[in-house]
Amino acid sequence: MLKSSFGWSRKFAVAVSAALLFGGFGSALHAAPAKDIKLYVFSSGALTIGKGILQNLAPNDPPIQIPVGFFVIKHPKGTVLFDTGNNDKIITDGSYWGPALKALNPVRTPEVAIDAQLAKIGLKPDDITYVVPSHLHLDHGGNISKFPNSTLLIQRDELKNAFWPDANTQGPYIFDDFAYLRQGLYDQVPNKGKMVQLDGDLDLFRDGTVRLKKWPGHTPGSQMLILRLANTGTLILTGDTIYFRENVEKNIPPNVILAWNPTGILRAYEYVRFLQATENAEYFTAHDPDAFKALKKAPEYYD
Ligand SMILES: [Zn+2]
Repeated sequence: MLKSSFGWSRKFAVAVSAALLFGGFGSALHAAPAKDIKLYVFSSGALTIGKGILQNLAPNDPPIQIPVGFFVIKHPKGTVLFDTGNNDKIITDGSYWGPALKALNPVRTPEVAIDAQLAKIGLKPDDITYVVPSHLHLDHGGNISKFPNSTLLIQRDELKNAFWPDANTQGPYIFDDFAYLRQGLYDQVPNKGKMVQLDGDLDLFRDGTVRLKKWPGHTPGSQMLILRLANTGTLILTGDTIYFRENVEKNIPPNVILAWNPTGILRAYEYVRFLQATENAEYFTAHDPDAFKALKKAPEYYD
């Protein structure tokens, strides 16, 4: 009896200290100076897609052109690439995407290539420390293989679903975008598949400024990035967990073919509203045409 009650109180004490520790750290980290951190916004061209696929309330709306946004964060301890756009191979190879090329009609001009985009701020692929795909669909994980010297930070569940998709979720994955990862994992080929497989959230630089947040919803292993900047404040990079601002404002999920877990997507809208209320947060999506148009693009930046 004594032993079990001691065990219980010890567990309780550990839980309380953990809460204090994380709570305490959390507040301290919020207050950490975020100076010298910059966020740059890029586009990997554009796609054309039926609006009703991204916004379930508008099933009959005609196709619209949407940007394919991706982002670079320069932090004193490393440079982070959040999403990598469409694979550059489609610029010259009309067969690489198979039927998706005709269906999505991507912009294929040379200046949308990721090297050309990064060059706007003087970066080469080898300058990227961490590549963080929000998920591995063709317009987000497309160019991950162009960063063999960077470390890929990917949710384990996303990797699993990309290689062995759940029924009816395989459509937007292009296997050859990430097939090379197996060479590093199984064949020990140097500079192939240098990655960390995550099972949850990560405070990347341990200062609270760049946090990866696992968010199953759009796909099983989607992740968002929470950025805390000195002047801009809190910013959420949503990937495809959120398509349009209107979806958040009116609680509209996408069509179920782009919602592996619709509840997860609705919870993300609630999370955005929570951070808006508590930290006056902003959020940047990858594909909202109007919202994206209004953003400062590289070489301009947010700090
Ligand atoms: Zn997308």
